[in-house]
Amino acid sequence: MRVHAYAAPAAGRPLAPTTIERRDVGPDDVLIEVEYAGICHSDIHTVNGDWGPQPFPVVPGHEIVGVVTEVGPRVTRHRVGDRVGVGCMVDSCGECANCRNGDEQYCLDGLVPTYAGTDRDGSTTQGGYSTHVVVDADFVLRVPDGIGPAAAAPLLCAGITTWSPLRRWGAGPGRRVAVVGLGGLGHMAVKLAHAMGAEVTVLSQSLKKQEDGLRLGADSYFATTDPDTFTQLAGRFHLIVNTVSATIDVDAYLSLLAVDGTLVNVGAPAEPLSLNAMSLIGGRRSYAGSMIGGIAETQEMLDFCAEHGIGAEVEVVPADRVNEAYERVLASDVRYRFVIDAATLR
Ligand code: NAP
Ligand code: ZN
Repeated sequence: MRVHAYAAPAAGRPLAPTTIERRDVGPDDVLIEVEYAGICHSDIHTVNGDWGPQPFPVVPGHEIVGVVTEVGPRVTRHRVGDRVGVGCMVDSCGECANCRNGDEQYCLDGLVPTYAGTDRDGSTTQGGYSTHVVVDADFVLRVPDGIGPAAAAPLLCAGITTWSPLRRWGAGPGRRVAVVGLGGLGHMAVKLAHAMGAEVTVLSQSLKKQEDGLRLGADSYFATTDPDTFTQLAGRFHLIVNTVSATIDVDAYLSLLAVDGTLVNVGAPAEPLSLNAMSLIGGRRSYAGSMIGGIAETQEMLDFCAEHGIGAEVEVVPADRVNEAYERVLASDVRYRFVIDAATLR
């Protein structure tokens, strides 16, 4: 079927309305009428060419929420009328050790990203800035009642990307967790770590968003442009989650870790990050990375959010304001996720 979408025609060019072809619903597929699609900074990195050449035109969008309108004959886990979500991947081999372990995002055969990837039929995947998507049912999540669809959309990337390291490296009572950058991912990290029971500190460029940070669940808030911050907080944190989309001074942040502490990088800047080995050695510290999360883990996160009344803080925008939203994300002027109203794509 031919559907409406918004696409970037070439690297660094503004997005514009277009139409794209969606495959017929196969035996294991679900057809979803999209309600909302979040704007992730990864969409911007991709269309700006920060991560290398892309198969343009690219329809971004991997924070998708909508309603099932058709299912293939073999689908049992979703039904017509269900509210569902799709995140950053739409397929994986399902057979390798990582897939079998629930880490489909690290599929040894290569996961199929929701957009700008190669699908199993050889076509290029196109994302959620469109009225409809067709996705294998195994990569479609249940969106529980109780989270509004616009607030749920960012959970599919920003939510799971922060949930996974918070869970793996431990955010809970007695743990001091710092979140670097209060954007889309950062604000979810604050909400989730707070709900898990950790003591949460925001490390932001300025104190402009301090009131918001404390309201979202942070216990304290510091400006990283103030050099005193780094002396005051030295050796303090068990876990630091870096969500910054640009390069940071990794050594300075490592100095804030307690012995055995871990700095997990989820931010994926265009330029390499470097560090001095002494920053790790001098405190038995770890520097780690983490990419989104597995499908079962994503469902667990969605269920946790519903149970704890957690959704993203969103600013809903019509499709014709997507380029302006990109500019505002690049200027760190987002509170805290732009979400496209897919009804405006028609
Ligand atoms: P975002 O909404 O733009 O948030 C990034 C935040 O980083 C900004 O709000 C800002 O926070 C801070 N920041 C931006 N530029 C900075 C600079 N030059 N110096 C210091 N701080 C700066 O972006 P996002 O959607 O949360 O994504 C963040 C990063 O994570 C991106 O690189 C994205 O590609 C990546 N990502 C990775 C994964 C994964 O699986 N690992 C998944 C999704 C996204 P303050 O204003 O508070 O300083
Ligand atoms: Zn994302």
